[in-house]
Amino acid sequence: MKKNIAILGSTGSIGTQALEVIEANPEIFSATVLTAQENADLLIEQAVKFLPKEVVIGNEKHFDKVKSALSPFDIKVYTGIEALVSVVETDNVDTVLTAMVGYAGLLPTIHAIKAGKDIALANKETLVVAGELITGLAKQYDVNIYPVDSEHSAIFQCLVGEEGNKIEKIILTASGGPFRGKDRTYLANVTKEQALKHPNWSMGAKITIDSATLMNKGLEVIEAKWLFGLEASQIDVIVHPQSIVHSLVQFEDGSIKAQMGLPDMKLPIQYALRYPARLKSAYPRFNFTDYPSLTFEKPDLDTFRNLAIAYEVLDKGGNAACIVNAANEIAVEAFLRDKIGFLDISDLIIESLAKISYISTPTYSDYVQTNEATRRFASELIQVKV
Ligand code: NDP
Ligand code: MG
Repeated sequence: MKKNIAILGSTGSIGTQALEVIEANPEIFSATVLTAQENADLLIEQAVKFLPKEVVIGNEKHFDKVKSALSPFDIKVYTGIEALVSVVETDNVDTVLTAMVGYAGLLPTIHAIKAGKDIALANKETLVVAGELITGLAKQYDVNIYPVDSEHSAIFQCLVGEEGNKIEKIILTASGGPFRGKDRTYLANVTKEQALKHPNWSMGAKITIDSATLMNKGLEVIEAKWLFGLEASQIDVIVHPQSIVHSLVQFEDGSIKAQMGLPDMKLPIQYALRYPARLKSAYPRFNFTDYPSLTFEKPDLDTFRNLAIAYEVLDKGGNAACIVNAANEIAVEAFLRDKIGFLDISDLIIESLAKISYISTPTYSDYVQTNEATRRFASELIQVKV
C-alpha cells in the first residue's frame, strides 16, 4: 500500500524537495494533493508529472490558468482557503506535509489533525503560534506529528529506542547564519542580498532572513518545547557553523546522542514521511576527514536579540509567541521590500509585544485576533518609520 501524501506548499523549497523524495520512491509514496499560492506554472508542471487527485492554487487570479492547463487530466482544481482546508480531509490523504510558509499553515493543520491525518511538520510557525492547541488536538485525535525541521528531526531520531528515559536537555545547533560574529554597527547597514546568502542551506526567503536574525533558532526553541514537551531551561542553543551535527539530546545519565550528516533537507523529509523506516538513498555521505574541525560557540544574544525574545516568550506562554511570530512575518516582509533595516526587525517585535494585549489561555479565535491585531500594529509602525 502506497502512502498518500498531501504537500501544502509544493512549489517551495521543502515542497520541491519532498517531490524529489516521492519521485525517487514511487512504490512507497504517491503525491495525491499539491497546493501553491502564486506559482501557477510550477504547480501545473508538478501536477502533470505527479498526477495528484486534487490541486489548490491559493491566489484566485491564477485559477483559470491552472484549471484549463489541467483539464485534460483527471485532477480536481480548486482555489481559496476553504479548498486548502478541505483537501487535507479527504480519503485521498494519509499524511499531510505542511510545507507552506508562515501563519497560513495554522488552519489547514488544525483541519488535517481533526480529520485524523498524520502531520509531517515543516511549517514551524504553526507550533510557534499555537503549540498548545496543536499538540492538544494531536493527542485528542491520536495523530502523530513528525518533525521535518532538521534540528527537530535530529532530536526525534536520537529519541528512538529511549522510551521511558527522561531528557535532561536538548541542544539545538545553529549555523549562525551569514552574519555570525558581526556587531550591531555592521548589521545596521546590511542589505537583503547579503542576508539572503545563507552559508549552508538553500531555503525560502522568509526562513533565510529568519536564519540571519537568529529568529529561526528562536522559533525552533519554541517548536522544540511543544514537540518534545520541554521547559525553557531544558533547551540550549549552540552555534555550529559547519551544520554537520544537526542537534543533540542529553539524558539523565549525562550521555549525549547526536544526529549528524551533510546538510540536506531530503533526509529529514523522507524520515518524517516514512518513520520509523529509513529509506535507502544515494545522497552524498559525510566524511570525517573532510572536516578536521567541527566547532561550537555560544550564540550572541545581545546582537541577535530575536533569540533572546524567543526565550522570553517561551516562559511567558499564552499568545506571546503568536505576537512575536506575526510581528516577525510583517517585519521580514518589509525588510525584503527594503522598507526597514535589519535591526528594525527586532525593534518591531519588541514594540508589538509591548503593545498587543497578553492573553494567558488563548482560544483559537484569540490567536486569530492576536495575529490580525499584531500585523496591523506592526504595519502601522513601518508606515511611521518610512
Ligand atoms: P518557500 O518560500 O520556499 O515555499 C513556501 C511555499 O508555501 C510555496 O509553495 C508557496 O507557494 C506556499 N505559500 C506561500 N504563502 C502561502 C499562503 N499564504 N498560503 C498557502 N501557501 C502559501 O518556503 P520553504 O519551503 O523554505 O519553507 C516552508 C516552511 O518550512 C516554513 O515554515 C519554513 O520555516 C519551514 N522549513 C523550511 C526549511 C527549508 O530548508 N526550506 C527547513 C526547515 C523548516 P508559491 O511558491 O506558489 O507562492
Ligand atoms: Mg531548522
